[in-house]
Amino acid sequence: MQDNPVALVTGANKGIGLQIAKDLAAHGFIVLVGSRNLEHGEKAAQSVAADAHAVQLDVTNQASIAAAAGRIRDEFGRLDVLVNNAGITHAGKPGRSLPEMAQSGRLSVVSLDELRTVWETNVFGVIAVTQAMLPLLREAPAGRVVNISSGGGSLAWNVDPTNPHRTMFGTYSASKTALNAITLAFAFDLESTGIKVNAADPGFTATDLNNNQGTGTVQEAAREPVRLALLGADGPTGTFSNVDGPVPW
Ligand code: NAP
Repeated sequence: MQDNPVALVTGANKGIGLQIAKDLAAHGFIVLVGSRNLEHGEKAAQSVAADAHAVQLDVTNQASIAAAAGRIRDEFGRLDVLVNNAGITHAGKPGRSLPEMAQSGRLSVVSLDELRTVWETNVFGVIAVTQAMLPLLREAPAGRVVNISSGGGSLAWNVDPTNPHRTMFGTYSASKTALNAITLAFAFDLESTGIKVNAADPGFTATDLNNNQGTGTVQEAAREPVRLALLGADGPTGTFSNVDGPVPW
């Protein structure tokens, strides 16, 4: 078994997940770079740390999830931190502008196929990966789960009629609301175990997710998820926060 703590970040081959992986490695974790394309993961792992490893992991594929969990047990013998970062905004053609994505994700027009694809990754994928990794997390001295949510999923922010972004509340943002509910459900379920489950809003960040139209950097975006991954025994569970503090549900 590894002496150093082990962290798995899903969708860590690029974007915010890659930066979270780098920051956790800098904090002494053996980082497992989850990537649905193994080659992309291997390339990314080289930029994370000498002892980082790529793990093939498609969060929508049960066989891939089970194989990843088996490999982590066999090769590393432990898992201390799981960051559920993999996410998509739409299932259509890449390169669409933000307004186009928001338009096609409106509940009045979105196809159920598209909705299911987005929720399969952002919601059911998180449940499936967390369930598969729980046996290892339960054995860890300080198991931590961090779900990468979005301020766009905050119901409290979206019910405010002065919020200019509420017109974008649709397929993607509602999936993040569901992710928030799932974060709470896991947190309550695991309260007696010492495993802490929290959701982080990374902020509007320039990545491929939004054709690099975000205003923040991946370094800024990784800060809150990494803080939650490093919570001590006295840290909270079942919270939703960004770098400025708690985000209303
Ligand atoms: P990104 O650069 O597009 O990265 C998304 C990552 O998720 C990629 O590694 C992608 O892999 C992976 N992924 C997608 N579907 C997957 C699947 N089925 N299985 C495994 N991996 C999968 O986007 P990002 O901005 O870094 O997003 C990271 C997280 O932050 C997401 O959950 C997103 O919703 C959240 N977020 C982002 C922003 C923002 O402004 N950027 C704001 C709020 C929340 P491939 O390379 O194979 O596609």
